[in-house]
Amino acid sequence: MSVRHLRNFIGGRFHDGIRTFAKHNPADGALIAQVHEASRDQVDAAVAAARAALPGWAALPVGERTAYLYALADGIERRFDEFLQAEIADTGKPVGWASQIDIPRGAANFRSFAEIARTLDMESFMTDTPDGRQALNYAYRKPLGVVGVISPWNLPLLLFTWKVAPALAFGNTVVAKPSEVTPTTATLLAEVAEEIGLPPGVFNVVHGFGPNSAGEFITTHPDIDGITFTGETATGSTIMKAVAPGVKPVSFELGGKNAALVFDDADFDAAVAGVARSVFANCGQVCLCTERVYVHRPIFDKFVSALKIEAEKLVLGWPMDPATTMGPLVSHEHRSKVQSYLKLAVEEGATVVTGGGVPTFGDARDEGAYIQPTIWTGLPETARCIKEEVFGPVCHIAPFDTEEDAIRMANDTRYGLAAAVWTTNLTRGHRVAQAMNVGLAWVNCWFLRDLRTPFGGSGLSGIGREGGRHSLHFYTEPTNVCVKL
Ligand code: NAD
Repeated sequence: MSVRHLRNFIGGRFHDGIRTFAKHNPADGALIAQVHEASRDQVDAAVAAARAALPGWAALPVGERTAYLYALADGIERRFDEFLQAEIADTGKPVGWASQIDIPRGAANFRSFAEIARTLDMESFMTDTPDGRQALNYAYRKPLGVVGVISPWNLPLLLFTWKVAPALAFGNTVVAKPSEVTPTTATLLAEVAEEIGLPPGVFNVVHGFGPNSAGEFITTHPDIDGITFTGETATGSTIMKAVAPGVKPVSFELGGKNAALVFDDADFDAAVAGVARSVFANCGQVCLCTERVYVHRPIFDKFVSALKIEAEKLVLGWPMDPATTMGPLVSHEHRSKVQSYLKLAVEEGATVVTGGGVPTFGDARDEGAYIQPTIWTGLPETARCIKEEVFGPVCHIAPFDTEEDAIRMANDTRYGLAAAVWTTNLTRGHRVAQAMNVGLAWVNCWFLRDLRTPFGGSGLSGIGREGGRHSLHFYTEPTNVCVKL
């Protein structure tokens, strides 16, 4: 594959950056792109272009505005294979996953938010007034303005479009920065925007890092009206401080330490398969992935043995091989972090049921960032490996005796993103799911998403919900109009 140059898309045109940085393929370490880092002046230019484009874009009839979103979705699908290859080269994720999840969902996000914008209703109330008459109140919603989008590397196109699509659908203009670790598909999306004739300045892409680079230049920019961010909790905290002087709204989708609860009345095979997927999918690099598994004591040993078999069945292969079920981690840097937890778990007293190290292949994959799927048991609930997000293909399995114990242990975390409950007793399923202090609770499934539903977390997992009409809360500002009748 030739080395791409990934440039900044500002005001409808591509621009070289002040310097370039190298992007490597995590499967074999090969150089795949030179990324053009945006200067502060270029971020300023992107914000100015977005500001200039805002009145025209916001004033477009919703049918015309959403037609551009449908065209963006069609544009992604027209170049599906190119997006797919780029996403796989950036992340190392298996083709089976990327072709089913990342790229289709990238397109679906534009269609889904276009549909929501086209069919929006408006909140209104008739109010009795003291003089015996009435008033009509309605909440007229205007775009927030120029929105800064900052996204992570784990589901690059999917999470980038999850924010860009509602921003554009509701009439905002955007300055977006993809992760420096996975910059390619955002740049391809900018090419699609150019191809479909999206008005210049409506959607801008700038490349770079966080501190003293494009990320910080966006979050500290006085002319940005709000920041929507997905990434690590610590970064969210830094961004919150950066926007505090301007009292800017933020929408944060942050880390997690998600639990699965498996009851002895669960469909055992479905629970094993579901938990295996929720632990190991995308090499454990989905914010919703399970890292803590709690299993009813009567089936504990059987469950541990069954999950071990599932982990050992995973095929750690080349990402483009359809037989591959687990690719590498996204980078060597991230692998070092995950390895530090593999070491820590042993120091904290874990029994390593399977995995715990780095595989060897005897080919170029040894230059990649592969890691073994790993299962631990025996850790105390106070261990750092139980409390901190690892963001790799790892989990700890602990037994529980009662429903109350399971709920208490699952909720004993400062994160609050997701949980999965496995039981055939649906009354219990509802009860336990409702008791989880999380934004998303699944019963007998995991990562089953309807894009109209609220998505996000509480505690260290984030602020606010996006998805469907919940996205209105961040991407629009209501003006309540009260008309005396
Ligand atoms: P990260 O926080 O390191 O980086 C995310 C983005 O923030 C990148 O674009 C990065 O350049 C930028 N950034 C970093 N420092 C910044 C700063 N000081 N100012 C402005 N921007 C800055 O996160 P990551 O490692 O790319 O992603 C993995 C994390 O994301 C995990 O913690 C995962 O749980 C979380 N995540 C959460 C969700 C969710 O929906 N809750 C979804 C996916 C990932």
